[in-house]
Amino acid sequence: MIAADRIMTTVGRFAPSPTGPLHAGSLLAAFGSWLMARRRGGLWHVRIEDVDRVRAVPGMAEQQLTMLQAFGLDWDGPIVRQSDRDALYQQALDRLLAAGEAFVCHCSRRDLEASGGRHHGRCTASAPRPDPAIRLRVPRGTRVAFDDRVRGRIEQDVGEAVGDFVLRRADGLWAYQLAVVVDDAAQHVTEVVRGADLLDSTPRQILLQRRLGLPTPAYVHLPLLLDAHGRKLSKSHAALPIDAASPLPALQHAWRQLGQAPFADVQDVPSFLDRACARFEPARIPPHDHRLCDAP
Ligand code: GLU
Repeated sequence: MIAADRIMTTVGRFAPSPTGPLHAGSLLAAFGSWLMARRRGGLWHVRIEDVDRVRAVPGMAEQQLTMLQAFGLDWDGPIVRQSDRDALYQQALDRLLAAGEAFVCHCSRRDLEASGGRHHGRCTASAPRPDPAIRLRVPRGTRVAFDDRVRGRIEQDVGEAVGDFVLRRADGLWAYQLAVVVDDAAQHVTEVVRGADLLDSTPRQILLQRRLGLPTPAYVHLPLLLDAHGRKLSKSHAALPIDAASPLPALQHAWRQLGQAPFADVQDVPSFLDRACARFEPARIPPHDHRLCDAP
């Protein structure tokens, strides 16, 4: 009985890259994934995705965690940092290399263009490089389909759309796609809830799960907040900063952006979050992004 309950537990996660402060768009993703897990009494982990050491800003992860605390979004277990997990990524890569699913690639951008660009299946470099990348072999016609709980059926020809994608970069850094798949499995994540900017990455991640024999979690892609030019807010100058000193209005705003019916009479964050957990209806999450006209 206990074992069956454990198997049914929802495990969600929020996985910010420590490249800038949390803003209204990242709060939406954090709050949405927290709600999806907590409404069922599930677990919610926070993972710092600092795998790209070049882009990670020192001190930013701590600032992001302080923000989550100010917004009452409590997490379970220790914080996982990708920069501590080289050995796990290496194991996964070694398995893919040993199985012939991945290959060492010395190709420069020019070599790739000359060999058709995307799905060359093997290295065609004109000269070896001291710093080769490692790619996943993705033959033509490799199609992946999944049912996103908000956006419905999504299908991608991964061979056509991306081809042999990078698992370890030429600069020696782990690619996001490999790290996220290894980490979601290692943390037993059952439900990946995140912004729709990553919808396009999901077929690659499912493909990697299949090649590594890992389970595929459920996927829920939340609306993005876009500026008036249709750019994701974090990528524009108007990143809509959130104020940790007055968290309630930002949470109420995110609640509405998640398509949920507003409710009154709550004066503080803990009562708002309790009420939100009880009333949250995933079926109301809009399957489209929000364009905010007040952005430049
Ligand atoms: N680290 C990614 C980001 O901040 C999110 C990855 C994910 O949720 O899978 O955009």
